[in-house]
Amino acid sequence: MLIDLHTHSTASDGLDDPEDLVRRAGAAGLTVVALTDHDTTAGLGRAGAALPAGLTLVPGAEISCYVDVGDRQISLHVLAYLFDRAEPAFARVRAEIRDHRATRARRMVELLAADGHPVRWERVRQLAAGAVGRPHVAAAMVEAGLVPTVGAAFSRAWIGAGGPYHVGKLQPDVWRTLALIRGAGGVSVFAHPFASRRGAVVGADVIVRMAAAGLGGLEVDHPDHDPDERRRLRALAAELDLVMTGSSDYHGASKPQGLGAETTSPQAYDRLLAAATGAIPVTG
Ligand code: AMP
Ligand code: FE
Ligand code: FE
Ligand code: ZN
Repeated sequence: MLIDLHTHSTASDGLDDPEDLVRRAGAAGLTVVALTDHDTTAGLGRAGAALPAGLTLVPGAEISCYVDVGDRQISLHVLAYLFDRAEPAFARVRAEIRDHRATRARRMVELLAADGHPVRWERVRQLAAGAVGRPHVAAAMVEAGLVPTVGAAFSRAWIGAGGPYHVGKLQPDVWRTLALIRGAGGVSVFAHPFASRRGAVVGADVIVRMAAAGLGGLEVDHPDHDPDERRRLRALAAELDLVMTGSSDYHGASKPQGLGAETTSPQAYDRLLAAATGAIPVTG
C-alpha cells in the first residue's frame, strides 16, 4: 500500500484540478490519497467523482491557525481528516477564513500598487480557482515582472513574513482549531511541525499541550523536514502516543515534491481511521 495523506488541488494553491490530481495519484501507484486543500473542502466532490478504480480518497483540509508563545504568535497548519463537512461550527470557521483570504490578498495587491508595483487583482482572481493565497499573488508578481520567481516574492522584501507587502491571515488559534476538528468528528495531524525553512516553528512544549488538547498525530516525514527534525518528531510521537504520518504536500507536477514522495504506514493510517467518526474514505 502506498499512502499519501497531504495534497493540494486548484481548490486552494495546487496546480492540478481535483480530477487530474486523483488521476495522477492512481498513475503514481498510490492506493490512498488525502486531498487537504488550505481551509476548504471544495475540491472533494470533484476528486471523489473522478477516482480511478482501486484508489481511496480520504477527505481532509489543512487549517491555518496560530499559537501564542510568550509575546509572539507562531503560525501553524493542522491537517483535519474525516470530519463531517456539514457540521456547522467548523464549516462556519472555514468559510470565514476563506472570505478573509480574498480580502487579505486584495489588500496585498493594493499595497503593491500604492508603491508603484502594479499587479492586477483580476489576474490574481483568475489564478485562484478557489481559496486564494500568497502563491497566487506571487505568481501574478512573477508575470508582472516584479520578481524573477515565486520564491523571491516570498522573501522579506515582498510578501514573505515581515515583508512590506505581507498581510496576515485571520485564523483561529490552535486550541479552537483542534476543538473544531474533534467537534466535527475528525482527527487532526500537525502538518510539517518542524519545517523551519518556512518560518518560526513551535517547540516540543507546544506539541505536548496540543496532544493534551486532542491532537491525533504528527506529520513526521515531510519534504521540508531534515533527518534531525524527523528524529526529534519520532521521539515526541512515541512519547505522546501520537500517530506518525508521512506525506508529500504535493502542490502540482511542476513542483519538486511528487505524489508519494513521502508516505504513511498502513498501521498509522488504520489508527487515523479508527480515531475519526465524521466521515469515511471513498473508494473508486
Ligand atoms: P498563505 O496561506 O496564503 O499565506 O500562503 C502560504 C502557502 O504558500 C503555503 O501553504 C505554501 O503552499 C506556499 N509557500 C510558502 N512559502 C513559500 C515559498 N518560499 N515559496 C513558494 N511557496 C511558498
Ligand atoms: Fe500551500
Ligand atoms: Fe502547510
Ligand atoms: Zn500543505
